Amino acid sequence: MDAKDGCIFCQILAGTRPARMVYEGDELVAFEDIRPQAPTHLLIVPRRHLPSLREAVEEDEAVLGRMLTVASRLARERKIESQGYRLVINNGSWAGQSVDHLHIHLLGGRAFHWPPG
Ligand code: AMP
Repeated sequence: MDAKDGCIFCQILAGTRPARMVYEGDELVAFEDIRPQAPTHLLIVPRRHLPSLREAVEEDEAVLGRMLTVASRLARERKIESQGYRLVINNGSWAGQSVDHLHIHLLGGRAFHWPPG
């Protein structure tokens, strides 16, 4: 899918909206969440506009896997690995998805509760 007009994350990827980038690769990027919910709160975002995991197809498997290995690498770099961290993908309204461009939240630096709210 091509960049979608009005998509905040496509604008960040196009460089027309600012973001604090922490990783830039061929297939995906990671940047600081604008409203952090933890001392570390990064968003790992594929360059290809996928509205959510629901639209992911077989050809997306490589980038989906890469999103996890980049998350692991960033957690190591941020030194949140040993205490533990949380990865979240919100899909759809009941899950609280607010930006319709697939992303993984990487949250760390504090303890989290389970079950989530
Ligand atoms: P979700 O609710 O799972 O769709 O997550 C979307 C996330 O994007 C939220 O945590 C927002 O704080 C974050 N967000 C929205 N706009 C921006 C932006 N311009 N730069 C960085 N993060 C953003």
